[in-house]
Amino acid sequence: MAKIPVAVLGATGSVGQRFVSLLAEHPWFEIAALTASERSAGKPYGEAVRWMLEAPLPPEVAEMEVLPTAPPLPCRLVFSALDARAADTAEGELAATGCFVVSNARSHRMDPDVPLLVPEVNPDHLEMLQIQDRGEGAILTNPNCSTIGLVLALKPLADAFGLDKVHVVTLQALSGAGVPGVPSLSALDNVVPYISGEEDKMESETRKILGHWNGREMEPADVRVSAHCNRVAVIDGHTECVSLSLRRKAGLDEVREALAGFRGLPQELALPSAPSRPVEVTDQIDRPQPRLDRGRGRGMAVTVGRLRPCNLFDYKFVALSHNTLRGAAGGSILVAELAIARGVLPGLKAPVKIADSFAD
Ligand code: NAP
Repeated sequence: MAKIPVAVLGATGSVGQRFVSLLAEHPWFEIAALTASERSAGKPYGEAVRWMLEAPLPPEVAEMEVLPTAPPLPCRLVFSALDARAADTAEGELAATGCFVVSNARSHRMDPDVPLLVPEVNPDHLEMLQIQDRGEGAILTNPNCSTIGLVLALKPLADAFGLDKVHVVTLQALSGAGVPGVPSLSALDNVVPYISGEEDKMESETRKILGHWNGREMEPADVRVSAHCNRVAVIDGHTECVSLSLRRKAGLDEVREALAGFRGLPQELALPSAPSRPVEVTDQIDRPQPRLDRGRGRGMAVTVGRLRPCNLFDYKFVALSHNTLRGAAGGSILVAELAIARGVLPGLKAPVKIADSFAD
């Protein structure tokens, strides 16, 4: 069977470039269209983009003309890496004309009919699409990049022991601020203790993702979350220092075992972008570190280290995840793989037998 044609909206940005790089080698998908703003539309992609990745720009993509971000597009599956102001209108318009939009933007994440998905954590929230009525298409979202790393580490503990309170302090990479990024005089020799909207997003999105979909509405998880978000001079990889209280008493070994043994539906289905272990636990005293650990599981695994008892809460640890891979483009592609494997995007079928596609 032929691969599924896809479009990348906002293909010239920090996340858009990751999409292009991952999709150029994807076993199910092939790039049919790239879009960006009016500034870039009409130019060859290789000219419009300021390519920032170590992997070279795929030559077959460099020649493609950048399209305006508007219907019609030559495909139904659309990955959005749009700036939120553009996503506010474009994603709904595209869904209305029959596109399945898998978005990284904040615009629709908290809408009551839109699933906010981390495939290992809440695959059952795909059922929200049954009540979504946005025309022939649909909108699916993945969370803020810091929230994704956090919920992957929280989910095994929520399932095994229940979660009461979570306190998290982030150290977030510069690539999270998009292209061209934070000015060097703000970033170097510095820590910026403010990222607009980020703390609210971590607190509300976590409760939605860990919440219960009752068939009509979302019941947010009964957990209190408090976040401090900081920008630091790291290129890729968000570090999060987490302290938490559990609802049931658990020993340190049990907590470690719950984290290290965690697997989800993407691992069962052997989806192409699923890492074999979504949470990797390290016992090395000075890990995880962004430069050394962000590439684990091809950038799709969260590394948890420094797990220890906490004097204020029950336990504390450090979690690290790649913000533009698991935290954005890779996470969205995994959402699309899951939705296709579960048959919830009418007309789209995986071009291979699902269980044969494992490639870790
Ligand atoms: P970015 O580097 O600033 O890229 C934004 C993209 O949107 C560019 O392709 C830009 O095209 C396009 N765009 C801007 N205004 C537009 C308009 N009016 N119409 C059409 N296209 C327009 O941002 P980013 O960091 O890649 O983030 C993209 C989205 O993902 C954002 O919503 C962000 O919040 C979210 N996100 C980012 C990360 C991360 O780690 N960076 C992680 C998770 C989620 P031009 O080049 O033509 O201007």
